[in-house]
Amino acid sequence: MKITGDQALVKRINKSLVLDSIRQHAPLSRTSVSRLTGLNKATVSNLVQELIDDQLVLESGEGQSSGGRKPLMLEFNRTAGYAAGVELTVNELTIVLTDLEGEIIARQMMPLQDHQVSTTLELMQQMMTRLLTEVPASVHGLIGMGVGVPGMVDALGNVLFAPNLGWEGVPLRVELEQLFGLPVTIDNEANAGAIGELQFGAGRHVRNLVYVSVGMGIGSGIIIDGEPYKGARGYAGETGHMSVEAYGLPCSCGSRGCWELYASELAYDHALRDPLLDSTTAYWVQQAEWDEPEAIELFRRIGEYLGIGITNLVNSFNPEVVIIGGHMRQAQPWIAPHVQTVVSQRTLPYHRQKLVIQYSELGDQSAVIGAAYAAISQFLGRVRVSV
Ligand SMILES: [Zn+2]
Repeated sequence: MKITGDQALVKRINKSLVLDSIRQHAPLSRTSVSRLTGLNKATVSNLVQELIDDQLVLESGEGQSSGGRKPLMLEFNRTAGYAAGVELTVNELTIVLTDLEGEIIARQMMPLQDHQVSTTLELMQQMMTRLLTEVPASVHGLIGMGVGVPGMVDALGNVLFAPNLGWEGVPLRVELEQLFGLPVTIDNEANAGAIGELQFGAGRHVRNLVYVSVGMGIGSGIIIDGEPYKGARGYAGETGHMSVEAYGLPCSCGSRGCWELYASELAYDHALRDPLLDSTTAYWVQQAEWDEPEAIELFRRIGEYLGIGITNLVNSFNPEVVIIGGHMRQAQPWIAPHVQTVVSQRTLPYHRQKLVIQYSELGDQSAVIGAAYAAISQFLGRVRVSV
């Protein structure tokens, strides 16, 4: 039977509805899929058969029967393929391989010696070659690669500007697709982290969240009604450059008083009497563990400033959850009470109701897992329909 473009589109949408309901609620009978999706039983049977043929869905044991024959239960075949998740930071490159449920099966991290695009790609290739030896055989193999970068990325996967890497106008998606012969997605690191936490971490049960990535700067991933909000041209989330001090310190962006100067690792530089000291979060966390007053005071100020910026985000977006991630998460015991106090004092009363401030559940893995998930969801969205 020949079907029209519209019919093919409807079928594709229905098929992904069926797959989604199985992924989220498995084990599930065909009758339950029909009830959950609102599709009739014949359509569900048809689409389930295609998904079984694609080996994305498996029939498992028999379920409970309400009388009559026991139904066969359906499960998502999470090991039908594997995805690569990559996070590029100023200091290091991390690559993980995950199954189709975002569970890490292999991981590698290497320090970055320099930020040249060519050296970075070469290192990625070496790491991938090693990691691929750890991928079990599967029907679909390596289905794609998702990358999180510390900078602004457009919808075509070009890195427009990543000041900390010194990158401007790098066609990263195209270069990686040529290098690896795989579909590649590129996203900002904070968006990738937000997606990771939304799918598998502290944001699993909510539809509206702001993920604040606090490291050598601040970026935010904003999720509205379950979808990342990227703005008109993809540059939303540059919250680190929100003005919090009207006549504050000058910022590398050309403005002044930017949030990240006071509430990220950049604040350490202003705190050090001896600039030769190591100004990492690990250093200050150790100082705080030893109850050094200077470190306690530093984290109090950072906590308060984080609270001020988060207040602005909460009043603007009314999220259910704000998740603090990135290196600063390690300072949670010292910053958390101050973040909470400022947010409680300053946010509007209606916005504060039911608002929860959390710290990333996936730890340092939010962005790599989110990047891998972007590749997985693109792959599942491409699942063909037979016409
Ligand atoms: Zn700035």
